[in-house]
Formats: sequence, C-alpha cells, structure tokens
Amino acid sequence: MRLIEQLAALQALDAQIDRCRQRYHEIQAALQPAETLQALALRRKGLQEHVAQWQQTQKQREQAVAAQTAKIQEQEKLLYGGMIKDAREQVNMQHNIEALQRQHAALEEDALAALLEVEQSSATLAEVEQVWQAEAAAWRRQQALLQGELQQVIQEARKFKAERDGAAPKIAAQALRQYESLRQQKNGVAVVKIDGASCGGCGSLLPTARRQQAYGDDLVTCPICGRLLATT
Ligand SMILES: [Zn+2]
Repeated sequence: MRLIEQLAALQALDAQIDRCRQRYHEIQAALQPAETLQALALRRKGLQEHVAQWQQTQKQREQAVAAQTAKIQEQEKLLYGGMIKDAREQVNMQHNIEALQRQHAALEEDALAALLEVEQSSATLAEVEQVWQAEAAAWRRQQALLQGELQQVIQEARKFKAERDGAAPKIAAQALRQYESLRQQKNGVAVVKIDGASCGGCGSLLPTARRQQAYGDDLVTCPICGRLLATT
C-alpha cells in the first residue's frame, strides 16, 4: 500500500473513533436526569406535603367541631334535665347554648373548607402523579436504549482503536507526524482526494505538476490548504 493510502486508511479509522467519541459524550449528556422529570418530582413532593398539612388541619378542625358538639350537649343536658329551676338562669343558659351553636356552625364551616382543600389538592396530586409516572416510564425506556447504544459505541471504539494501533506503527514516523499535525489543524481532515483537477478539501484548482506528483510515492500537499492529496 502506498504511503498516502496508508494515511487515508488511518484517517478513516480516526474518523470512526472520533464519531464514537462524540456519540459517547452525547449519550452521557442524555443520561443525565431529565429536567422535566425533576420539575415534576419537585411539584409532586410539594403537593404531597400540602395534602398532608391540610389533612392535619382538617383533623384538628373536626376535633374542634366534636368538642363543641360535646359542650353543647352537656349544656342541653343541664337545661333540659330539669336540674335548673330558676327561669332567669334557664334563659341565660338558652342564650349560652345559642352562642355555642353559632360558634359550632363557624367551626363546621372551617372544617368543611379544610376537607375541600384536601380533596382538591389530592386530585391535583393524583394528576401530577399520573403524568410523573408516565414520564418516568418513558424516561426509563429511553435510558435503557441509550445504555444499550453506549455499550455498542464503546465496543465499536475499541475495535477501531485496535485496528488503528495495528496500522499506525507500519507508517513512516515523519509522515505520521505530518498527518497528525494536519488533522489537528484541519478539523480532522488531513488527507483529501483529488476531485477532477481540484483539491477535495478546499476546492482550489491544482497545478498539473502537483496532480501528477500525487500519483508517485512521495506525499504531495495542496498548495492552498496544505492537506495531503490522495489519488484514490
Ligand atoms: Zn486544498
């Protein structure tokens, strides 16, 4: 194999290794936790706390209603039990019971408000939960696919790297250095094919002598972009 052909083959391997490396980084980035999933999880946690807090409030308010009911019953028992004989005291007591009943109604309203808040936020939580579960399942499926592809990319990269490690030492050291340096300067493309009468890299027309030299054994570069010219 001519030197330029060896370098072209090496470049094909290097391009594959670069492609694997780029895909590897892309997959690694995609394997990070999904942002929408994080936002949903946060919303879900906030709602769970909100529901728990209101359940507690509802319980407290219902206990207050029950205590008030007991207080009224106690007063009514006294009033209707026939224990109190004095008419003025009976009227006072009646007023007292009425006041307790008004408070009772207000307490019941508070307890109902808490119940409604619990029901409403529980419903919202259930909706968020459903969306979160669907998103999480989709995310897990995607992650599994990406993990599979990641392993494949790693295997491919190893194969190309082994091929490269086998091919590179067979190339003359000076030509290899020139190739490496050009690849760095020229965005990974050190060897280009001659396209008709032009450089396949920069497109400029090549002097006839240069094109003819490119068929020989020595390495020939494009006078404009400096890349190595391959004939096949
Ligand atoms: Zn060129």
